[in-house]
Amino acid sequence: MDADVVVVGAGAAGVAAAIHLAQAGREVLVLEAADHAGGRAHTRTIDGFLLDEGFHTFNPVYPENAMMLDIPALDLHPLAPGLAVKDQPEAPLALFAKPGFNPLVTASTLVTAARQGMFSLDTARGALRWMLPAINTRSAYPFPGDEPDMPLSESLDRAGFPESSKQLLIMFFAGVLGEDKGESSATYAKCMLKAFTAGQPSLPVRGIGMIAEQLVHRAQQLGVRFCFSTAVAGVDESRADRPVVAVVDGDSITANHVVIATDAVTAADTFGSTAPAMRGLSTWWYAADEPPEGKHLTMDPHARGPLVNTVVMSNTNPNLAPVGKHLVQASAIIKNHRALTDREALDHMSFIWGMDPGHFELIVRDDIVRALPTQLPGREPRAPQTLRNVVFAGDWCHSATLNGALVSGRLAAGAVLRANNRSTMDATTPPKKS
Ligand SMILES: Cc1cc2nc3c(=O)[nH]c(=O)nc-3n(C[C@H](O)[C@H](O)[C@H](O)COP(=O)(O)OP(=O)(O)OC[C@H]3O[C@@H](n4cnc5c(N)ncnc54)[C@H](O)[C@@H]3O)c2cc1C
Repeated sequence: MDADVVVVGAGAAGVAAAIHLAQAGREVLVLEAADHAGGRAHTRTIDGFLLDEGFHTFNPVYPENAMMLDIPALDLHPLAPGLAVKDQPEAPLALFAKPGFNPLVTASTLVTAARQGMFSLDTARGALRWMLPAINTRSAYPFPGDEPDMPLSESLDRAGFPESSKQLLIMFFAGVLGEDKGESSATYAKCMLKAFTAGQPSLPVRGIGMIAEQLVHRAQQLGVRFCFSTAVAGVDESRADRPVVAVVDGDSITANHVVIATDAVTAADTFGSTAPAMRGLSTWWYAADEPPEGKHLTMDPHARGPLVNTVVMSNTNPNLAPVGKHLVQASAIIKNHRALTDREALDHMSFIWGMDPGHFELIVRDDIVRALPTQLPGREPRAPQTLRNVVFAGDWCHSATLNGALVSGRLAAGAVLRANNRSTMDATTPPKKS
């Protein structure tokens, strides 16, 4: 069989690459191992609940998200701005404001921070100095004028954060970095903070799977063909000028170009790229008749259990639960491949919400060992890796978010088009939505 461009993987990166290539007039065939698109950003229906595979939020502030998706059609339900934290066991949750959002909540944040010994003039100065390069610029990543990249933990120490607020920030970032040692890139963490303060993490009305639905629909309108349940075993570049894609069932497809848009570990193990390692996350999904109160991302900064955050999803987006039921998620990082017990998660979650564990009934747990590519210091976004006529895409090529995956798809498409000497797009300039 013959094809112009084969894309391996129908996650956000692969479908974005397919859209850009099709917009430039190329014929694109997408081969996807699973029976659906979306990769890690997938939603299932279980017992009437709409459950993402692992807790996801969508932040419309990221430029590529806004450019590639019909944001109004996602009918986003924003989480409450800021964070809720469990301080003393008997005390109610304390709110940490999103800067500048609400003067009353900001005042209560300062009081809470002062009570916890997190706030002094020196701390405030250090924190501001630390955040300003990220918040005070229009550019994305890396930020001009910022300190050289280093591990987050070291960067917070240098800025003079006391142990309590350093711990709070590291626990907050653990949910988006997949680690709680502060070994990830401080620059990347600031980038996350910038997105969190400038935009509002939100829940699409029917779950994160809506992103892939929209992308696939757009790709199909442009003539992109999809083959699901079609795993690729490898790509052979040695036999001719044109790479040969070997499908697991024995078929092979000769193509002009191949875009490999799998997760980082598959890209390295099966397709020979130099991709980073990946970190794991677990999410427990619970049904409740009586929900805890609150619409914030909620966490225990003192790490008195394994969870990095918990959210009452249906308080923000009631469509995720059947009528009369409520949906709560609780997430933890997977450390050293040790799966936590359901009991450990339930006890910690009940403690955070101040409710009896009997209120919560486990629907399903997701253990995603390959959740997020590592974002170590100095690993900045870069040009797509290319092996002759094969180009790599995926969040690991740019940044560990849906936005990063979409950017990587665009950059990979640009590399294919340039390689073919038929470039109709500048890979650094986002094309207009069709
Ligand atoms: C639990 C969790 C929470 C997250 N939270 C957020 C969040 O809140 N906000 C955010 O922006 N991002 C979040 N992310 C990250 C986001 O989901 C990813 O960055 C993004 O989905 C990656 O897209 P991708 O296309 O690069 O890779 P993937 O989604 O992994 O897509 C790769 C595709 O390749 C397919 N594939 C693999 N091997 C083969 C093969 N041999 N042949 C054919 N097909 C193959 C896979 O089946 C998959 O469909 C989260 C991720 C996880 C796991």
